[in-house]
Amino acid sequence: MEEEAIRHDEVLVKDQVCSLTVVDDEDNDKPLIIEFPQTIETQFGKSIDELQLECSSWRFAIESNNLSPWKTIPHECADYVKDYLMGRAYRFDLERVSKEAIKYAKSVELGEDAKDVWVFDIDETLLSNLPYYADHGFGLEVFDGAEFDKWVDKAMASPIESSLKLYEEVLKLGFKVFLLTGRSEHQRGVTVANLINSGFQDWDKLILRATEDHGKLAAIYKSEKRNEMVEEGYRILGNSGDQWSDLLGSSVSIRSFKLPNPMYYIP
Ligand SMILES: [Mg+2]
Repeated sequence: MEEEAIRHDEVLVKDQVCSLTVVDDEDNDKPLIIEFPQTIETQFGKSIDELQLECSSWRFAIESNNLSPWKTIPHECADYVKDYLMGRAYRFDLERVSKEAIKYAKSVELGEDAKDVWVFDIDETLLSNLPYYADHGFGLEVFDGAEFDKWVDKAMASPIESSLKLYEEVLKLGFKVFLLTGRSEHQRGVTVANLINSGFQDWDKLILRATEDHGKLAAIYKSEKRNEMVEEGYRILGNSGDQWSDLLGSSVSIRSFKLPNPMYYIP
């Protein structure tokens, strides 16, 4: 029997020199074996493990609002953020928030005056703009309001399924549902169409930025709108948003639920 030939070569994989073991055995269709070196160096001079750790630490810092403000994702974390959003992790995190919020919603006793409110933000809370951000580096590019508005006008954002579940649950439990968004009043039509096409219905209020709200920080604008709710006698028991500016400020909800969003920061 003819002896199989084993050849060791060096090849370039993603700018890295890797050893390639070629088993030259015609009777055996085993795949070629590529052995990565123990510590593969990235183009940033760090090992992939090290980069994963750093980007995951960055994500924790931004999600917990320890790192703020920030404009774009770190260049070296572009692949990390993309993998997080397109893989299972983002969906897992969204589902976790929804699950915990449902648990809380079911645990509270509502008054008989129908004044208990759950506030929802819209973008990256009820509706996902991932297709837009996929075309814009998942947060690598500085936010371009005019470009984003063109996308909003298409009314093609997709529902965040876990949020739809929470939304339906709080309605069923008897909460008033107020949608409070940074979108402009002139986008009301497309926003309503997008929400309804995505399964969101029966809200009690949809609050968008009026002319006098333009130029206000989201945290101020949203606080003012929550103040008005409280002045009208509503009790804000739950608030869901992907930005801390959806949740902090005045007339803060009894419980706030922060959805993950490593793509952009709104002050
Ligand atoms: Mg949002």
